[in-house]
Parts: sequence; C-alpha cells; structure tokens
Amino acid sequence: MQSQIVAVTVSDLRNIKEGDEVVLNGWLQEIRLLKNISFLVLRDHTGTIQITSKPDTTSGYDKLAQMTRETVISVTGTLTRKTQSKSGIEVLCKSIKVLNASKSPLPLGIIDPVSADIETRLTNRFLDLRKPEVALIFRTESELLWGMREFFHDSGFVEVHTPKIVAAATEGGADLFPVQYFEKQAYLNQSPQLYKEILISAGMNRVFEVGPAFRAEKHNTPRHLNEFTSIDIEMGFADHHDAMHMLQEGIKSGLKHLVSHRPDIVASLSQQVEVPVGDFPKITYRECIRKLDSHGEAVKFGDDFTPEQLKLIGAEFTGFYFITEWPSSLRAFYTHPKPGDETVSNSFDLQYREFEITSGAQRVHDPAMLEERLRSKNLNPDDFSFYLNAFRYGMPPHAGWGLGLERLSLIILNLQNIREAILFPRDRTRITP
Ligand code: ATP
Repeated sequence: MQSQIVAVTVSDLRNIKEGDEVVLNGWLQEIRLLKNISFLVLRDHTGTIQITSKPDTTSGYDKLAQMTRETVISVTGTLTRKTQSKSGIEVLCKSIKVLNASKSPLPLGIIDPVSADIETRLTNRFLDLRKPEVALIFRTESELLWGMREFFHDSGFVEVHTPKIVAAATEGGADLFPVQYFEKQAYLNQSPQLYKEILISAGMNRVFEVGPAFRAEKHNTPRHLNEFTSIDIEMGFADHHDAMHMLQEGIKSGLKHLVSHRPDIVASLSQQVEVPVGDFPKITYRECIRKLDSHGEAVKFGDDFTPEQLKLIGAEFTGFYFITEWPSSLRAFYTHPKPGDETVSNSFDLQYREFEITSGAQRVHDPAMLEERLRSKNLNPDDFSFYLNAFRYGMPPHAGWGLGLERLSLIILNLQNIREAILFPRDRTRITP
C-alpha cells in the first residue's frame, strides 16, 4: 500500500519509498522546457531536487512556459529512483501550484556561474542568501555559536544582555556613534566591557554575552565592520590564564559541535574544518619583536604590529595562537599591568594567521589603580563613576575577553571579506538593506 506524505523537505526524500506521493514547497531554481518533457529544479532550505514533468501526467503542463525562475511553488508528485540525476532520485510531477510568482529578470542570479561583485550581492542580499554556499556561512556560524553557548552554559556562565545605549565610551576615544537620547547625548556601545565587570562585582561570578558592538571606525577594510557580533565573557576570581583557557576550550567546543552535529554542513564547505587538539601556543609581545627583528622588521616597544608583520609572526603557527603581555600603553585602562613589569600587561590577543580574533586580559580590580589608569589615558574618572562605584564595595579579581563572531567565521571558512560573514553588513558606506 502506498502511504500519503504531506509537504516533505528535499532532504527527507532520501528516506522515502519509490512510488510514494510527496508534496514539496520551495523555489523554482531552474526550468528547462522541451517539447514533450520538462525538467525543473526545486530548491528548499535543505537542498535541490529535479522534478520531471510531462504533458500527459502533469495537470496544467502548458502553464510551465510562463513560470519565472525563483517563483515560489508547491509540487505534488511521486518519487522515483529511475533517474540520471546526480542525487539518484527525482520527483515525477503530477501538479504544480504557483504560490507566488517572481519578477523577471533577477537582479542577481542564484545559480549563474558568473559571481557578482560584493556590492551587488549585498544590495540584493535576500537573493544572495538563497545561494546554498552563502546560506552555509550562516548555518555554520549558528552551529559554532550553539556549541560555544553550550560550553559556557555548562561551565557555569550566565548569559546576560547589557545595554547598547550608553552614556560613556567604554574606552574613551572617538570611535563612537552618538545617539540623541531625549535631552541627553548618548552613544551606541563599543563593547559590553564595563557592564560585564559591574556584573562581577554584583556577584554573578561568570557571565557571557552575545550581542552587537558598534564602532564608528572610518576605515574600510576586509576585516572591519561598524556593527559586529561580540561574544564576551567575564569571570570572577580569575586571571588572564583562566580566560585564555576558557577561550581555547570555547572555540574547540564550537568546532566540535559543528563537526559532530552537522557533518553534512562540514562536508559541503570548501574549507576543511578541524577541531584543534591541545593548548593553543603562546608567544609574548617581546618575543614577537625579536622574531620580527630576525626578519629584518624593526618594531619599537609600544608599537602595534602591522598586518604584514602579523603575517610573518602567524606563519610560524599552524592554527590559533596567543600573543600575550602586550605593552600597557597599547591596552585599555581596565587592563591589569603585569606585577613586577608594569610596562607590559596581563593581556592577550588570540590570533589566526594575521587575524586578531579576540582581545582579553586580567582586569584591574583595585579602584585606586583603576582611577590612576583612567587618568593616565587622559580620561576623567567622574565620567566613569557608575562603573567605579562597583569597584568600591568589594570587587573580586577578574578576567575576560571579547571575540568577534564574524572574524571567527572569516578564518574558519577562509572568507575573503568580513562582510560575507554577517547577514546585513554595516560599513562606512552601507546602512541598507
Ligand atoms: P582591530 O585591531 O582588529 O581593529 P580591536 O583591537 O579594535 O581590533 P577589540 O576592541 O580588542 O578590537 O575587540 C575585540 C574583538 O572584537 C577583536 O579581536 C575582533 O574579533 C572584534 N572586532 C573589533 N573591532 C571589530 C570591527 N570593527 N569589525 C569586526 N570585528 C571587530
């Protein structure tokens, strides 16, 4: 006896018997009309399937000629495995219903081999995201983040949501988007840093947050966005070593989750995905200077590394690596100096080749030291009183980091441009769609 199946996905078809009736909903990706037979490709969020249609078995066969690509359709048909198609299965069409027709021509082809430039793709992002290889980026990101969330949750972290409209700059400086907040001037937050620290004083012990961070940086590079997704943690009674350990294990868990829960995604990626084994190597800032010197690159203590210099350093490592003990002068006021050598700090960046993925550190917990550090960076402690107060009534030693989700995707998927790793990028010239 044949069983009736209602609305299945393309990936469900693998488990369906020859001759069974199915209903498939999706987009008409391709249509090839011949005299006595037509071949359609239907795409849904799980894949594509060939639909074969014949005048004597498909009702309304003559309407196919008017159908445009990317029209939303509902196909009823029977499954057959007697096919030349790549997947080894196809659906013989009994009827096809147009749920919503697409305009033609398309401003961006979904399957056309000519790849459009990034600006055309982003302008037509709703179409760009229909491309399976583009959709894969976001499915991968979702799995990575899920694995990381699970890890932090299981490690006793509380997921929090801190304000994005703030009165003071996290680090001072000019990279802030101002917003008019009724009668007052406010800003979009650059980082949840100050609020994460307040929550440590509030006794939450371990917090993590996944949220937007806004940077009014004017540069326009393949690694910078003006709004990105920041994954942040902060831990009480902890130092930079603990924070580095959590970062390393969090990333491994994200990758493990991706590999074990979605081998189908991993198999479809053009880039090989591996879960790192063991500890990520560490190199100090001073060691980096010595290494660069041996390459004929003179760097003064206190200078930041250029992308070219980071390339030289990164070439020594096969995957993720930490650069530790950055000069205190290069780090934000809340970074704890290294006891006994205060020119450097208990800080780190996680790198992958020349890309910085994460910045983190042990933070200053002594309020007097914090005020002094604010002044040394030409910031006024009065502007930070809401934050400093939390340090005056019992603040544990603490540490944490901030990781850019899109930078992580960029390196894991080997993308050329960070704009590919965010659904709707905000950059120097783009605020739509
Ligand atoms: P960079 O030197 O690369 O501009 P940063 O030192 O300003 O970065 P932090 O303020 O330390 O970065 O932010 C922590 C993490 O947030 C970075 O390691 C990166 O992953 C991410 N990040 C920071 N700024 C951006 C940005 N403009 N676009 C995308 N991700 C960013």
